[in-house]
Amino acid sequence: MDKILDQLNPEQREAACHIDGPILILAGAGSGKTKTITTRLAYLLSLGIDPANTLTLTFTNKAASEMRERALSMIDNPVYPPLLCTFHKFGLLFLKFHIEKLGRKNDFVVIDTDDKKRIIKQIDKELPTALVASEISRYKNSLIHPAQAIAQAEQPQYKKIAAIYQTYQEYLVENNLVDFDDLLMLTHELLEMDEDLRKSVSDRYRYIMVDEYQDTNELQLQLLKKLCDSHTNLCVVGDDDQSIYGWRGANIKNILEFPNMFDDTKVVKLEHNYRSTEEILKAANLLIQHNRSRLGKTLISTKGKGKPVEIFQSSDENEESDKIARAIKQLIDSGVAAGEIAVLYRINALSRSLEEGLNRAGIAYQLVGGVRFYERAEIKDAISYLRIIANSHDDFSFKRVINRPKRGIGKATIDKIEKAAYEKHLSLYQFLSETPKTELSKLLSKKAYASINRFINDLEILQETLERSTMEFMEMFDSAIGLKAHYASLPDGMERVLNLDEFYGLFRDMIKKNPDMSLDGFLNEISLQSDQDQIKGEQISIMSVHASKGLEFTHLFVIGMEEEFFPLLGDGCDMEEERRLGYVAMTRAKETLTLSTVQSRFHKGRRKQLEKSRFLTEAGLLQGALSIEKSTGYKKGDLVKHKLFGIGRVLEVSRAGRDYKLKINFGGNRRDILSSFVEKV
Ligand code: ATP
Ligand code: MG
Repeated sequence: MDKILDQLNPEQREAACHIDGPILILAGAGSGKTKTITTRLAYLLSLGIDPANTLTLTFTNKAASEMRERALSMIDNPVYPPLLCTFHKFGLLFLKFHIEKLGRKNDFVVIDTDDKKRIIKQIDKELPTALVASEISRYKNSLIHPAQAIAQAEQPQYKKIAAIYQTYQEYLVENNLVDFDDLLMLTHELLEMDEDLRKSVSDRYRYIMVDEYQDTNELQLQLLKKLCDSHTNLCVVGDDDQSIYGWRGANIKNILEFPNMFDDTKVVKLEHNYRSTEEILKAANLLIQHNRSRLGKTLISTKGKGKPVEIFQSSDENEESDKIARAIKQLIDSGVAAGEIAVLYRINALSRSLEEGLNRAGIAYQLVGGVRFYERAEIKDAISYLRIIANSHDDFSFKRVINRPKRGIGKATIDKIEKAAYEKHLSLYQFLSETPKTELSKLLSKKAYASINRFINDLEILQETLERSTMEFMEMFDSAIGLKAHYASLPDGMERVLNLDEFYGLFRDMIKKNPDMSLDGFLNEISLQSDQDQIKGEQISIMSVHASKGLEFTHLFVIGMEEEFFPLLGDGCDMEEERRLGYVAMTRAKETLTLSTVQSRFHKGRRKQLEKSRFLTEAGLLQGALSIEKSTGYKKGDLVKHKLFGIGRVLEVSRAGRDYKLKINFGGNRRDILSSFVEKV
């Protein structure tokens, strides 16, 4: 038992050993918060607490599986593993058991954001879909039902959004679908309306832990309160300086007011950072000190001074990405594992030029959270087929694939089928498979009838095979529906066919590993994959700052350090949240941190002149950058290379603001150029 706690410092140990009553561990980045609750879980189990009585919640599947692995490696294998998952996964498991109490069936399918937008678009084509989608999300996360939303709406636009919300929700119920927000909202609803259920669930999960608590929203807080109905053994860890989901409704008050919400809260602060060098931490601390609404914490590095934070200054995004690619290449050539390197950006649009640079340099990278694998068209097609087979109510998926591959079934035919099915209160698939053939042939044209008949037949054969054996089903799936053949005939088909193969392989793998997994189970599993789950390790990672939360990399680059890009300026800009994002980004670095800034960037179709990010100054780095320049500074006689003017010789060096101005002789032409725009040769 002591061995488990040995790896912790005294404060961490104090937190890990606190068993009964609420506890808040509030500490800066890299201070071992995640390590502490992981160890606490192992410690609880080592005391003989039943794993079934614990619940540990996180924000990503990757974090959950890493924590599970670490906790279990500290103790003898328990009879069964403790439940350690994301909030959404918990909701999913809960609804599988209890959704019938809401009059719904438990073979529901979870839809993703892309599906959600398509459904909204079917309902309304006028309002921007993204706006409606996020407003519906906001309603759900504030526990506002459609009827309430309609009653509350005052402006015409909001009346319309509330009405779309109502139709959308009805559509989900009819098609037996649930969206991400429902996973939490319906769970909360069940716990609220059923006192006995609330009591028994709370009795079961007697020890609850939450990582990254600063990013919980109102709904998650209410859910936690319900889960703690019969006890207050809630252990939360977080960092107010890392709250970066304000735009998604995360409420920083949840962490700041935790001690007021739960009586007798023990508060533990951790003040040693075990991740980053002093130089990196100094810069991150200086930056975050510019925020006013913060608790203020101390964070002392234990890693030694380390190398100064480096600044790359480039004229444009191409030069920037080439510089970064060169630096990465050097690291890899010197033996650094690619998985230890990452590049972050504030907005996803910046990944394009970066990717081009990495491609030019032949560096393999993993883009975390771009177009996700499961959101590619061909994969969504395959998933839609699987969904129809798992859930015959799913009209949404049915309509997606009825004519893919092409079966000569046009919109008019689909409209006809939809109308007839609606009159009989049947889903499209049910209608087509249950209606007598004579009746169907009267409704449809001869060609459409023949082709639909074949389609339904194929689906039924697949369904029968699935009842016999999932493996056998998988083997015949693609040839029955013809997706690979369809995509192979398209111009960019190669990659799509490879993607489909990867998807089928993944399915087979999961079934092999969990022979009892149903098709339903598989579909739900993949619908909850999060961005970070894609990190494989043998390539460098590139991702947004949001996606990097909780992770750490030995060598880190952050690009786009300019006003407008980081901080991202514009309507509704919250400078303090931008600064917290800056803090999160910088504190992912263990040994080296490089921040990159350009003079102009091509964005949204035009080139724009940019100012350096205020964060560079606030973090005390522009000075630092100059000292680097000075030590590697230019002197009269040096040979230098400029992108446009080629090679020249330095004639004179003088200061120019924060940079140096060089007078250079380019084959007889003398020019004044800032030192950051040339390279030594
Ligand atoms: P973040 O705020 O970014 O989520 P965190 O506070 O959760 O960070 P961890 O990820 O738990 O921090 O820990 C950061 C690093 O420090 C990890 O590599 C971890 O193994 C190491 N670490 C934490 N505590 C100790 C300790 N007492 N001794 C040695 N290493 C430690
Ligand atoms: Mg953490």
